[in-house]
Amino acid sequence: MPDLSEEFRLPVACPDCGSHLFKASQVHNPDDRVFCASCRRYLCLYHEAQKLLRLGPGSEREALIEEVVNRPAR
Ligand SMILES: [Zn+2]
Repeated sequence: MPDLSEEFRLPVACPDCGSHLFKASQVHNPDDRVFCASCRRYLCLYHEAQKLLRLGPGSEREALIEEVVNRPAR
C-alpha cells in the first residue's frame, strides 16, 4: 500500500511539539484532518489549512492560527 498522505509546512507551530510540518491525505477533501507530522496531533481540517496558506502574514491569519492551536485535539 502506498502512503497516501503528503507533508506540507504551515505557518502554525504544533501546540504539542512545535513542529511546522503537517500531514494530510492526498485526497484533499475539505473535511480531511490535518495532523502534525511528528507527533500526529490533530490540528485542523484541510480547508482550514488551505486558508492558512492562502492568507498572507497579518491579523486575519494570526486570528485563525490562534483559533486552531487553542482548539482541543480531537
Ligand atoms: Zn506535534
